[in-house]
Amino acid sequence: MLRPVISESKVKAVSDLLQESDRIVITCHMAPDGDAIGSSLGLLHTLANIGKEARIVTPDRIPETLRFLPGAKDIVPYSKYTEFAGKLLNDADLIFCLDFNALYRVDRMKDALESASARKILVDHHESPQDFTDVAISHPDQSSTSMLLFRLLCRLELFNMIDRKAATCIYTGMMTDTGNFSYNSNDPDLYVVIAELVRKGINKDEIYKRVMDTKKANVLKLNGYAVSNMQLFPEHKAALLTLSADELKRYNYQRGDTEGLVNEPLAIEDVIYSVFLREDEHHIKVSTRSKGDFPVNKICEKYFNGGGHVNAAGGEIECSLEEAVEMFKSTLADMEQYLKSKTIK
Ligand code: 5GP
Ligand code: MN
Repeated sequence: MLRPVISESKVKAVSDLLQESDRIVITCHMAPDGDAIGSSLGLLHTLANIGKEARIVTPDRIPETLRFLPGAKDIVPYSKYTEFAGKLLNDADLIFCLDFNALYRVDRMKDALESASARKILVDHHESPQDFTDVAISHPDQSSTSMLLFRLLCRLELFNMIDRKAATCIYTGMMTDTGNFSYNSNDPDLYVVIAELVRKGINKDEIYKRVMDTKKANVLKLNGYAVSNMQLFPEHKAALLTLSADELKRYNYQRGDTEGLVNEPLAIEDVIYSVFLREDEHHIKVSTRSKGDFPVNKICEKYFNGGGHVNAAGGEIECSLEEAVEMFKSTLADMEQYLKSKTIK
């Protein structure tokens, strides 16, 4: 049915570890998104159906928009229940690390995860994974970890164990990491999987509504305000959005309220590079997006202490918003070079 992607030896390694383990923890990256939570819950429900009770520990709280997912209420955020979450990690005999490629991506949970004696399995689609797990299923060509997880479950012969709850969570991850199948979405296998998930009874339209059409008025206004102040750099096909701490406060900003904002300028035909700078409490959070092959992950590595994917990356810098804007302006030299030669140094 699906083109095989994961090697037979890795499938066997996961299968063996699963059989040997019964204290399973699933974890994902900080500030978890639809793919991180969707893949974690998809795995949790499928494991429950083969009699393996697992727990999900996230580095911090999950966004409001994902709380409707079945099982979301039982997730244990390390930031809130540090002792309990630490004990779950410490007592586990198997830990699945989903949707992240490096230990620092779990933030303050890093030490607890690193020192846990459990065997660890990575399932992820970010480039250049660090070597911190016993088995690493890393496929950057996959559009979401949820899609990759579906492949893994099929290869483990657990397709029939994916119930409607698991399917709902997996679909959510596939949908959110592709902008509702508007980018990274040319793999025909995606649509084979969607068909199977719909057959399992998911309500695709309802999932879209629950995840996407949930904005509060102040959030819509905040995002509109940021867009109305957008700066355009036509020669560089670039756009910049910024929100200062004062502006965020004015609109009663809560974490997650600017999710997706950085994508907005890409709706302009001639913009291929979009950057959003947000003045958080201790640093400037940088989000970048691009169209085509302008590699924003390279930009984030070079200028913003970060990384990510070719078309979606981010980072954090400790400086003032004004200095961050200057830093953004320095990145335009790379764009200039890219527009001339299609490469950046
Ligand atoms: P966002 O802009 O939505 O925060 O992040 C988009 C993507 O960029 C994420 O999926 C992740 O791969 C990457 N990313 C975001 N922030 C960071 C960061 O601080 N460090 C690294 N290495 N990657 C990041
Ligand atoms: Mn992902």
